[in-house]
Amino acid sequence: MTTGWVWHERFGWHDTGTAAGFLKGEFIQPLQHVESPESKARFASLVEVSGIAKALKRIEITKASDEDILRVHTSEHLDKMKALSADIRGGDMGDGVSPFGFAGVDLACLAAGGTISALRAVVEGEVANAYALVRPPGHHARPEKGMGFCMFANVAVAIAHARARLGIERVAVVDWDVHHGNGTEACFEADPNILTISLHQDGNFPPDTGKVADRGVGPGKGSAINIPLPAGSGEGAYLDAFDRVVLPAIARFKPDVIMVASGFDSSNADPLGRMLLVSGSYRRMTRRLMDLAASLCGGRLVISHEGGYSPFYVPFCGLAVVETLSGVATGVEDPYERFWKDLPGQELQPHQRALVDAVVQACGL
Ligand SMILES: [Zn+2]
Repeated sequence: MTTGWVWHERFGWHDTGTAAGFLKGEFIQPLQHVESPESKARFASLVEVSGIAKALKRIEITKASDEDILRVHTSEHLDKMKALSADIRGGDMGDGVSPFGFAGVDLACLAAGGTISALRAVVEGEVANAYALVRPPGHHARPEKGMGFCMFANVAVAIAHARARLGIERVAVVDWDVHHGNGTEACFEADPNILTISLHQDGNFPPDTGKVADRGVGPGKGSAINIPLPAGSGEGAYLDAFDRVVLPAIARFKPDVIMVASGFDSSNADPLGRMLLVSGSYRRMTRRLMDLAASLCGGRLVISHEGGYSPFYVPFCGLAVVETLSGVATGVEDPYERFWKDLPGQELQPHQRALVDAVVQACGL
């Protein structure tokens, strides 16, 4: 069986306008907003140019319906996004730094639909696993509002769809984006059947969420796991967290399917993160999750794209993941990896081990 691939040209049309980084101001010279089409469109281009696209099964997207969105989000949020999208000037998703253009809500529903379609293709056995390269991203969107460049919580919307329509009950989500997957966590914080695990840079964004002690609420207590790694963490810290927290926690949870919220802003090249990962790091994390999925849930692994703001490096990180998922080696080498894979700090450091120790203890692993 092959690997499913989701991409749509219109994901490049989501218009975040001008800003510098993510801000505008009297003395901030306008530039392209950091959440621009570049990193994602160039990832899609490399998938084509490398030749691996021919080995993938392209999955047609069914746009998320209002019913799909409303399983996770409030009608007030959806109605507001629709009203702003009808304005030729567009609007903001909810926090003042997440702009979108005319018809932005249609693109956000297409992105959520891309993740749903990938999950459906895997659950129905059409493909072995899948990568959904969607835009805008989703993991910061809360039920009642968008934030952090995310309008709708793509992964959460897909999970809710799968539970309502595809007979799926238990899902584990691993979020390796450098920022906390606060939105996905918020959607399921009281739900014991959805395990959310976020590895992120401590205090980056949102600054006040994703702490070790945040474990979910009420009946969902224990179903959220946060691994707030110190700034400067490299592959050693991530793999230690995988081997001692992520993998055993998922094995204990016994999901029907594993999903990944895949942000490549935890790479060494990202302007919005301070971590050291290289493309090979994502390759090794993907491999571990594939092996676990094979032993737990028939290999069902669905990866949905989130952040990643280096236009020159995201494509190589993405290709590494798609090569691993599909078992196809393109022969295209990451030209940057040799400069960064042996950086001082790439190996596990004592203060990083101490943080993982704290998570192990908090989770009773
Ligand atoms: Zn991010």
